[in-house]
Amino acid sequence: MCKFCEVNKNLLLKETELSRLVVNYFPLGKFALLVIPKRHARLITDLNKAEITDLILLYQDTVKIINEKFNLPSVMGWFNQGADVGETVPHFHFHVALFETGGNLKPVERIGAKVPIQEELLIYIKNYF
Ligand SMILES: [Zn+2]
Repeated sequence: MCKFCEVNKNLLLKETELSRLVVNYFPLGKFALLVIPKRHARLITDLNKAEITDLILLYQDTVKIINEKFNLPSVMGWFNQGADVGETVPHFHFHVALFETGGNLKPVERIGAKVPIQEELLIYIKNYF
């Protein structure tokens, strides 16, 4: 079973017709979000135009909320395609990571550390979406 086809409802922030916004259970930085197409597709090239459009609009909306409601202008976004570059779930998804002023992200230390998100931070994030 694919964990992005059946997302953990506790991590779900927003849903559009074709996409979902969820909290990354193993965050980098202040916290991290994932924008995921509903249909199972491993590669960005497997997505159709409607799915790409829906995904990017949700991504844009997410960045806007981060900038305005969290007052955080610095956002890092990316996707990993292939195990060689760190893909861990073979269902296409965009990452969004937030930085506090001055930066608290230590990717080398955090990647692979597998520290789950704390419940109180999850509740805090949900207040904004
Ligand atoms: Zn899937």
